[in-house]
Amino acid sequence: MTRAGKRTTTMANAESTAASTDQSNGTLEVVCGPMFAGKTSLLIERIAQAQSRGVSTIAFKHASDTRYHATHLATHAGKQVPAHAVCDPIELVSRLGRAQVVLIDEAHFFGAWLWDIIVPILRDRRTLIVAGVERDHTGKPFEPFPRLLVEADVVTKLSGPCSRCGKPAIHSQRMIADMSRLVVGGSDLYQARCRECFLK
Ligand SMILES: [Zn+2]
Repeated sequence: MTRAGKRTTTMANAESTAASTDQSNGTLEVVCGPMFAGKTSLLIERIAQAQSRGVSTIAFKHASDTRYHATHLATHAGKQVPAHAVCDPIELVSRLGRAQVVLIDEAHFFGAWLWDIIVPILRDRRTLIVAGVERDHTGKPFEPFPRLLVEADVVTKLSGPCSRCGKPAIHSQRMIADMSRLVVGGSDLYQARCRECFLK
């Protein structure tokens, strides 16, 4: 969280909305921004907020993301909470149980297919908080975020400092020549960059 910078939320009461115990409707909060912006830290905050109200939570991550911990949501700074590592959205749904607040980290690892389970989870009147990188390493929209951002009740966009100039970063620049869309890595492979410094 120490490197996380600006936080922009589209609703003034977003925190109470996202962790709401009101079960009359499901709520979708999308947390996005470049790498090193504090997205996982915010998910861990949301879990603590819900649990302090006695609301049950369940957290998921993609099984291929083992950068910091295989079975926990873990931040670059070392904070961690238990999470289910799953291979695909169907496996995720099978493990939901009765949790009222469902959190999914690094949603871009699941691709466009993740969208298929979002509406059913919301119809179950659960609170859903989905985090990830909304732009790929070339700056293009990263599925499933275009759809998630359209449908979100609350959008929280985070930014960290640009690694070159310190201005707010919106891009995740890959530092190796690999054009695959998904390359798992941390500060060894990526830097946060502002618009001006991106791809320089
Ligand atoms: Zn910059």
